[in-house]
Amino acid sequence: MIVLYIVLAIIASLLVVILIRTAMFKPPVESEREIEDVEFDSDNAVRALQELVRCRTISYYDSALEDDAEFDKLIGLLPELYPEVCRECSFIRLPDRALLFKWEGIRHDEPSVMMSHYDVVPVDEAKWTKPPFGAVIDDNGVLWGRGCVDTKLTFNGILFAANHLISQGFRPNQDIYFAFSGGEEINGLGAVNIVDWFETNGITPDLVVDEGGAVVENVFPGVTRPCALVGLAEKGMMNLEFSVSTEGGHSSSPKPHTPIGILSKACCRVEKKTFRMHISGPAADMFDTLGRHSSFVYRMIFANLWCFGGVLNLLSKKSGGEMNALLRTTVAFTQASGSQAPNVIPPTASFVANLRLNPYDTVDSAVEHIRRVVNDDSVNLTVMPMAINPSAISEAECPAWDMVATTILETWPGCIVSPYLMVACSDSRHYGRISNHVYRFSAADLTADERAGIHGNDEHIRVEVIKRAVEFYIRLISKC
Ligand SMILES: [Zn+2]
Repeated sequence: MIVLYIVLAIIASLLVVILIRTAMFKPPVESEREIEDVEFDSDNAVRALQELVRCRTISYYDSALEDDAEFDKLIGLLPELYPEVCRECSFIRLPDRALLFKWEGIRHDEPSVMMSHYDVVPVDEAKWTKPPFGAVIDDNGVLWGRGCVDTKLTFNGILFAANHLISQGFRPNQDIYFAFSGGEEINGLGAVNIVDWFETNGITPDLVVDEGGAVVENVFPGVTRPCALVGLAEKGMMNLEFSVSTEGGHSSSPKPHTPIGILSKACCRVEKKTFRMHISGPAADMFDTLGRHSSFVYRMIFANLWCFGGVLNLLSKKSGGEMNALLRTTVAFTQASGSQAPNVIPPTASFVANLRLNPYDTVDSAVEHIRRVVNDDSVNLTVMPMAINPSAISEAECPAWDMVATTILETWPGCIVSPYLMVACSDSRHYGRISNHVYRFSAADLTADERAGIHGNDEHIRVEVIKRAVEFYIRLISKC
């Protein structure tokens, strides 16, 4: 009987602790802020983006398919579209289509870098309802075209904002660089060359802003307000080949295990024994920020991860998807190859898995984990070319972060600004070498439909969003 009372007392006190922590897990009080209007020639800003979209700056892994003239056309348009920038800023071109503008500020010790890329992914023209490079604006005020979101939007936002501010006689407090690559979509070296240039010249940026999260809705359980997601880091990426070689032979008299059977066993083991969950760094920051704005049940979970961490681990493992991707290194088997004929056992068979590496893993540690899990020496593991380690994690409690967060709140009043972990790759990962204030935020409020157009068919964006991107950069640059 006494034991029962003790157990009940423990459960009751646990419940009390959980409820107290939930009650205390509240968002910080939001201060009312005076927001100054930003005036600029917004129609001209939209026209400039249309001009950029009309350049077919498609990058391909096979460079023979690329049209250099289209890249040159875009670069040739810059003095026309952004005359003040081209007059006031120094400009250098670095190998692999990198463009770097420098706008000299009053001081030089804490420079900022505004990044973007001007190449786009290919289109499947037959599947588009509007011409992908026509930059048509329809009757509903929507601009259609490849790259209008990813990310000529921010390219134009940065340069149009700077152009406007220069025309108003503004001079930044600190140097500002505009750094653009023309091969981001194919992991080109443009951004690497720019970072090398910064390093050689002893320049350590105090703030770097590149594409990444955006202002989005319905992305976090129980949160109804729009959220501005600012990436503090991005996951790494690697393709890992699993291969097995045997003598092969005829399928009429097989050995008990064929190469494909051995690989299948390895595949099942890897899928079953997932990578470890990490509730730390950007994922923890995100839970701590957005969890406070969530509904009661989720608030209870996120306020008490010491108690519910196991449940979260289990749920995310079972459901996969975005929440799981946020919490651990993921493995997706994507390719398989074996024999050319249905009645021949292949002498060599292989599976390929695409891994997205959590910031707490590396290419090497991930291979080690897989080797342990597979636990079969006949399975050879080979890291395929272009493996990328996770980026460094930027700080979220510093003046540079505050500057970005404040600018977001001024441009999208009422949203919640939250750190997050980007699961895709961007050029900004290279900047981890020279700055720990690298923020991944695409200055746009995007609907689910607009997000679906990125790298897909019918990429489109509302004209009002094009204007807000410029507004964001006018506000941000004014603070630099
Ligand atoms: Zn992009």
